[in-house]
Amino acid sequence: MQRSEITIDLGALRQNVRTLLTVLAGSELWAVVKANAYGHGAVDVARAALESGATALCIATVAEAVTLRRDLGEARMVVMGPSDEDGVAAAREARLELVVAREDVPDGVPVHLKLDTGMGRWGLSELVRPPSNVVGLMSHLASADCDSVFTERQIELFRSATADHAHLTRHLANSAGALRFPSARFDAARCGIALYGLSPFGEHPAADGLAPVLSWRSELAAVKRLEPGESTGYGRRFVADRPTWIGIVPVGYGDGFRRDLTGTRVRVGDDLRRVIGTVSMDAFAVELAGELPVGAPVILVGDGVLLESHALVAGTITYELATGIDSNATRAGRTVLDA
Ligand SMILES: *Cc1c(COP(=O)(O)O)cnc(C)c1O
Repeated sequence: MQRSEITIDLGALRQNVRTLLTVLAGSELWAVVKANAYGHGAVDVARAALESGATALCIATVAEAVTLRRDLGEARMVVMGPSDEDGVAAAREARLELVVAREDVPDGVPVHLKLDTGMGRWGLSELVRPPSNVVGLMSHLASADCDSVFTERQIELFRSATADHAHLTRHLANSAGALRFPSARFDAARCGIALYGLSPFGEHPAADGLAPVLSWRSELAAVKRLEPGESTGYGRRFVADRPTWIGIVPVGYGDGFRRDLTGTRVRVGDDLRRVIGTVSMDAFAVELAGELPVGAPVILVGDGVLLESHALVAGTITYELATGIDSNATRAGRTVLDA
């Protein structure tokens, strides 16, 4: 095997799509597949999501959409980030829909006007009469994972600002909004993180009926016993205070196993074992209960090892960890399961 293997379980993805469709109770599900589907592989994910009931794809850039168009035929694609003049021309050519947050709406391309209801990035503060190529109205929730008062205020602002244009497709919710705020669902919800079976709340995904799609495994490439006073890794951040068996796993921050994951736990055999010392570019060390053979399997993600737990240790969110792993990396093997 390669130094490590990433498995993308499209069966789990389809199950998450069905879970979200049930939650959405009639609103459309638009699959957010930007950043290579949060590292999961955009083409496979997009195809499976569409087959399972998602009705459009959302990406961040025209370039991402143009690439996907080659593999995905006539799927509906909405580019959520801003586009320059070249982007607009490319969007016409590739039959994309654009999100526009300016008064001067480009023509010859279907447009979703973006209102700023509190995200404070892009968006119009007020809706003037939309030109005829405007097909949708949208806004984006800033804190649906953690602040219900602010979220309710955004939902209400969006509702009142768009009330006179209910014939257009109105979409506001991300995953957290779709899962927790029925009033945020409108005509469609743009869901990313939940599709991948990751909790937008940093909780156990099963709490929302979600199943993780990505798993990542490697093996012990070396096993050794440190004597008291001996150390492993750069900076000697782990020094054994008693005889200690350690395993070296051939995965590091160059593969997306970040440097701030020291202290997190991975599965070695039946046990969750601690990552010790400094994670280097191509390897990290794990503390073992005793001697194990070289080649013993190590589960970095999956089989009860949650990306949410790693995110907590690294002080970040699963979004950042998943996009950093990127399953199209040349450094790992990639298997796609589609049960
Ligand atoms: C990324 C993104 C989403 C998806 O958010 P999740 O929290 O991953 O569901 C929705 N809308 C916009 C505008 C986005 O940029």
